[in-house]
Amino acid sequence: MIKTDVIIIGGGATGCGIARDLALRGIPHCLIEKGDYAAGATGACHGLLHSGGRYVVSDAVAAKECYDENMILRRIGEKCVEPTGGLFVRLPGDSKIFRERFLRSCEEIGIPTEIMSSTKALELVPNLNPDTEEAIKVPDCSIDPFRLCMLNMRTSEIKGGLSFIRHKVTEIVKSHGRCIGVKATDAVSGEVKEIHANIIVNASGAWTNLVAGLAGCEVPLTLSKGSLVITNHRLTDMVINRLRPSSDGDIIVPNEAVCLAGTTSLMVQDPDKIAIQPDEVDIIIGEAGRMIPHFNQTRIIRAFSGVRPLLKSQKLDSREISRGFQIIDHQNGMYSIVGGKLTTFRLMAEKMVDTIMSAFNLKRACETAERPLDGQEELSGYPLSKRLSDMKNIVCECELVTRREVERIISQSGTRHVGDIQHRTRLGMGPCQGGFCTFRALGIMHDMDILTSEQSVQSLREFLQRRFRGIRGALWGDQLREEQLVEYIYLGILAMEQNK
Ligand SMILES: Cc1cc2nc3c(=O)[nH]c(=O)nc-3n(C[C@H](O)[C@H](O)[C@H](O)COP(=O)(O)OP(=O)(O)OC[C@H]3O[C@@H](n4cnc5c(N)ncnc54)[C@H](O)[C@@H]3O)c2cc1C
Repeated sequence: MIKTDVIIIGGGATGCGIARDLALRGIPHCLIEKGDYAAGATGACHGLLHSGGRYVVSDAVAAKECYDENMILRRIGEKCVEPTGGLFVRLPGDSKIFRERFLRSCEEIGIPTEIMSSTKALELVPNLNPDTEEAIKVPDCSIDPFRLCMLNMRTSEIKGGLSFIRHKVTEIVKSHGRCIGVKATDAVSGEVKEIHANIIVNASGAWTNLVAGLAGCEVPLTLSKGSLVITNHRLTDMVINRLRPSSDGDIIVPNEAVCLAGTTSLMVQDPDKIAIQPDEVDIIIGEAGRMIPHFNQTRIIRAFSGVRPLLKSQKLDSREISRGFQIIDHQNGMYSIVGGKLTTFRLMAEKMVDTIMSAFNLKRACETAERPLDGQEELSGYPLSKRLSDMKNIVCECELVTRREVERIISQSGTRHVGDIQHRTRLGMGPCQGGFCTFRALGIMHDMDILTSEQSVQSLREFLQRRFRGIRGALWGDQLREEQLVEYIYLGILAMEQNK
């Protein structure tokens, strides 16, 4: 049995942020995640480090939190934040009254804005709809959510924190009505680990109510599914938002070599049963195409969904529900933390750890806003020019990932999963969506004696299933042609179908 002070359930941005904060305040902890880091909403989001503009009219508190955190994260996380800036564009027919409310609310909160003519906006973003009537510039940024989680966990690791990925919490251990630990099942070996602690933090996002239920508690949530599509190249260097009340498909975010556009908002019951609907893809492309007409002719390489864990509300449109967060003390040694945004994960972690410190009767101030994220210098991939200068032995041509980099990640993490390499290097995230680099990465694992031939084939089969779920919603034109080529390679040359 393992003993620690605090158990964190969930390795999304919130859980990883809590681990970093605990580490910096000297509190022993153990994070448990059922997939890889960022496996939930964190890895399925737009990657927009909000300026607050999106919420400024509807939710001033959340907007102010976003703005303040944006300023902090661009300072402490230079290697995972790209200070792109953002434009709110007003198209013909968009309400001028909303524009006035937007500007007034930004001023009240202190979000800096710059009003631009359409000519100036088109100079900044040449692909913008030439019919744009005006644009308002705000300090939006793009952020890499995978890298953000890994960097937060790096501090935890340096300070001796424990973490188990691919371990699902299946039981909360109780004694005299108090939660004293968890049992977690290793998804690879099936082994069950028992871990005990004084405090358990349930940071499991859309699964919070399911995890709370293991302790006989309840956390009422509204689960809102959102879908996104990814283009095969970067159509804008700035974040583009539609200047209107939040609606479908009104945000486009550049991220590395691609753009993410979305999103939708549909209430769901089960976070594990979310399929992207073809009409969601049509809506997003149609709306994004209103802001950047080129979107309609651009190749879409992937479509996927995530679930927002929102505070329970009677509101029928989940877009109207507050993006604020809440810490729930279940009065039995367990806390749940719900709501919020990726943008406000650090603040959420700070408040959660403040609560833990007072429960332990300890005093040590939070340092996460001042200290740069650890491990940023070791990161691969940033910036693109760095990868271009290291062009030897490329394993993934789309994302310029080298063999050396893949070997480094495998040795460091001992992983047996291609997905883990993907989250840490961007291998397979480009236009071919892993069509060529996946079997190469598995070959490297085999060379390094990490996997047997049978395990490689099994891993490849699982990867292809996951890959196809993401690509299915984007199969037309060039992406369909590419998919047929990849299908011939895997089914024709590598005979994956027969190799059962
Ligand atoms: C489509 C979409 C777009 C979004 N875009 C943005 C954006 O651009 N900017 C922004 O600021 N916010 C955005 N958000 C919101 C943001 O993604 C979420 O608020 C945030 O990522 C939530 O993080 P989390 O760590 O609380 O939850 P999650 O990231 O969902 O993490 C919870 C983790 O708990 C794990 N878990 C669950 N059950 C168990 C168990 N039994 N045992 C172990 N582990 C378990 C899950 O695997 C998961 O990894 C978006 C959300 C969606 C859905």
